[in-house]
Amino acid sequence: MSISVRRLHPTQPAYSLTADVQNFLQCGLQYRYARTSRLPWSDSPQLWFGRFVCDCLQVAEQQVRHGLQPQPPWDPDRISQLCSMVTTRLQAEQIVCRSRSRQQAGLQCVTVAINELGPLLFPLIDAAQVPVSGSRWFPTIASTAATEDHQPSHFVLTGTVPALLRVTAMDRTAAACPLRQELLSHRIELAEGQTILVDFKSAHRPDLHRGSRRAATAGSDADQWRALVLSWLLAQQTALPAAAVVVYLHELSPSAAALRRLRQAQQVRTAHVLLPHPDSPDAALLHEFRDGHKPPQLSRNFRLQRAFRVIPVTPAALQTALQTADHAAQRIQTCRNQEAHSGRILSAWERNSHSPAACNACRARTWCPDFRGR
Ligand code: SF4
Repeated sequence: MSISVRRLHPTQPAYSLTADVQNFLQCGLQYRYARTSRLPWSDSPQLWFGRFVCDCLQVAEQQVRHGLQPQPPWDPDRISQLCSMVTTRLQAEQIVCRSRSRQQAGLQCVTVAINELGPLLFPLIDAAQVPVSGSRWFPTIASTAATEDHQPSHFVLTGTVPALLRVTAMDRTAAACPLRQELLSHRIELAEGQTILVDFKSAHRPDLHRGSRRAATAGSDADQWRALVLSWLLAQQTALPAAAVVVYLHELSPSAAALRRLRQAQQVRTAHVLLPHPDSPDAALLHEFRDGHKPPQLSRNFRLQRAFRVIPVTPAALQTALQTADHAAQRIQTCRNQEAHSGRILSAWERNSHSPAACNACRARTWCPDFRGR
């Protein structure tokens, strides 16, 4: 008597939205070295700034939620202690900043984020750092040598929702809440029990870069795409959020360069840039701002208005965002198969970075064929 042997089920590959899909979309080869070979991502000050600001805000929120610290505003000593702790953590991951001016800008950004955004947002946060996941089918693509393998039919996509706001909590401060006003300006009326997904970015609002070479290469809608995919992942566990909000933390303490770009946009009334009302004191301050002078202090309301970017979560937008994620996962799988077949890394992985800044900071640039001549 022969006993049949149960067939082995192929294991589903799992991709992290940030660590896999997003990084692959920036450059496949850089992703391969950093993720699989554990080569450090880059040594750019931008990487340090982004991690430092977002991690400080996250730790501050955690400490307030667990009753270890009072609600902000905090005094400089308290903020300095928090910054030292986060700096030590980042050093352990080999993420260091050697630029003193960048460190100063980071401290300034963290101080304003905790003291101006914290009192507004911390009481509204219902949950933070929520792990989410969902299963997706690989999209059908034309047959290639790689796809003729026994590929899994679907994959698991994972992510982390930085913060989730619930409407019942928002109602307490609804009248004065600039975030609520921003949602209403997008005609998003919140019903009882609905949630708002919040994602934090340490950068300026991307409208200042739209149309520039940097935006074209970095993908100016990457933030919108990420927020939408996180919304879908959240919906696999609870309910779809009423909206997603990306918070651009650098808008709370804008750099002199960003203010110059804002002034320029105001002079020519650039349509896609969020500008102050022409008759407002903020417009007058920008108009009077001269190169080499101290940057003007714009009003808190206008800075918050620029910091909050509301992204409506609609079925059409979700579908487009998910298609991008599915195709990126398929491309990662294809590159992996090609490497397994050929035993070569350079020819197997896509070198899809179009950003000279990203290439300059890339650890693989010394042997990457595409770096030459840049
Ligand atoms: S140098 Fe540029 S193209 Fe080459 S791996 Fe790095 S980011 Fe990618």
